[in-house]
Amino acid sequence: MEKRINGIHHITVMASDPQANYDFYTDLLGMRFIKKTVNFDAPDVYHLYYADEVGTPGTVLTFFPFPDARRGKRGTGEISTVYFSVPSKSINYWVNRLASRAVDFDGPSKKFGYDYISLLDPDGMKIEIVADPTADNIMGWNNGDVPVEHSIRKFFGVSYYLKRAAQSENLLVNVMGAKLIGTEGSLKRYSFGEESSEAFVDIYEDVNIERGISGAGTVHHIAWRTADDEEQNNWRNKVIEFGAYPTEMVDRNYFHSIYFREPGGILYEIATDGPGFMVDESFDTLGTELKLPPWHEPKRKLIEQILIPLKTKSFVKQN
Ligand code: ZN
Repeated sequence: MEKRINGIHHITVMASDPQANYDFYTDLLGMRFIKKTVNFDAPDVYHLYYADEVGTPGTVLTFFPFPDARRGKRGTGEISTVYFSVPSKSINYWVNRLASRAVDFDGPSKKFGYDYISLLDPDGMKIEIVADPTADNIMGWNNGDVPVEHSIRKFFGVSYYLKRAAQSENLLVNVMGAKLIGTEGSLKRYSFGEESSEAFVDIYEDVNIERGISGAGTVHHIAWRTADDEEQNNWRNKVIEFGAYPTEMVDRNYFHSIYFREPGGILYEIATDGPGFMVDESFDTLGTELKLPPWHEPKRKLIEQILIPLKTKSFVKQN
């Protein structure tokens, strides 16, 4: 039985305007748009997926863009920052890129010895771009004008604010296999996964911080990575033993999922690596058409009428 969660599978965030979201993550950050689908539980809203060029677990950031959504508020009970890894010598490239496009950012600063800059997406979600030596060993790729040597490689990790961290940490360490690797002031850093699937969780504990309010720019959930259905079921049993209440397995077409709230209120998912994003599109056509799971296909016409049009560019692989 797998003893440790193998890093992050994907992270899902609430957004407002889908076009602004698309332009930011593809044009500015250079991620590949790999899937245009709908929220399977509420198919009148898009579910947009950005990732590396093939949708490797650990690189996949997804959004539910509700066009009229009000902004949420960062606070406890949710993930407050999403970190991306770029190669160790790429911070200056990103500083210059953001500056040349008049995008506000802070830094470079240092945390646990890593250089990073921070910025907000169009809905106010906080992002950190981290110079990560692990990323130097992951093959680059590019989309548009972010060169291969500087492209985002994967998630570096996430941060949480929690009113009381003890039970959340208990779950991370004693059930999911995270390791505490350092503390800096009131910040604790935990690690999951190895090499290319390595991911960090930074926990700030503060009883005075208010609960977050869900809305555009706030993280909806984080999905942790597991190999297959059997391993997922083992995790499900361990989570029940811990005292949480996971759902039954849900078929998400591109992966299989279970969901539960961790003790601090953050929604966790555990998702399988397969079947992956090529089940209904090829490498060349990922993200080009509206994809619906078989059970929503009969409603395609209605769904297409409700969704606001999204202008996407085709992916041009460059070497
Ligand atoms: Zn998910």
